[in-house]
Amino acid sequence: TTRDANADLRAHIRTIPDFPKPGIQFRDITTLLLNGAAFALTIDRMAEQVDGEVDLVAVLEARGFLFGAALAVKLGVGVLLVRKDGKLPGATIAEDYALEYGSDRIAIHADACAPGARVLLVDDLIATGGTARAAVRLLRKAGADVVQAAFVIDLPELGGADALRSDGIDVTTLVT
Ligand code: AMP
Repeated sequence: TTRDANADLRAHIRTIPDFPKPGIQFRDITTLLLNGAAFALTIDRMAEQVDGEVDLVAVLEARGFLFGAALAVKLGVGVLLVRKDGKLPGATIAEDYALEYGSDRIAIHADACAPGARVLLVDDLIATGGTARAAVRLLRKAGADVVQAAFVIDLPELGGADALRSDGIDVTTLVT
């Protein structure tokens, strides 16, 4: 029998069918966030998976902000915001990525990280990997050394984690 090490966390993630559109099973982490013990355990487990030295945690808007900021405090490092384009006040660099229909654009402050900074990327969930891969391209453009990407949830059938690994990133997840 296989043991699910994170069954206790999985129990706090709610599935909402057909959100935001028909056919999508939305994995809702708001229920996990409402439980202080489950949220703390999530951050502890993410911290255990951090392999080696990290200088900054890069967080993806919006749910990645929550997990990534808490993890950064635990690791004693700062947070680099990866936002939807148009939200950051200073000079930015941006990256486009394809959606099912059309495209989207994310941005970081151009001076957000020193060249060679070891960056850990964090989001709540990886699906196709389109968002995370665009963030890796952007961080690399800024000179960062993206050493790892950490997610609470992986949807492996969508291939995002494997794609990120093929980009040379160490990918860790808690719940499949
Ligand atoms: P992707 O770029 O396809 O890897 O999608 C990842 C982003 O979309 C993450 O920021 C997730 O929060 C969100 N996302 C994609 N699919 C789902 C899903 N089934 N349930 C919840 N969030 C999702």
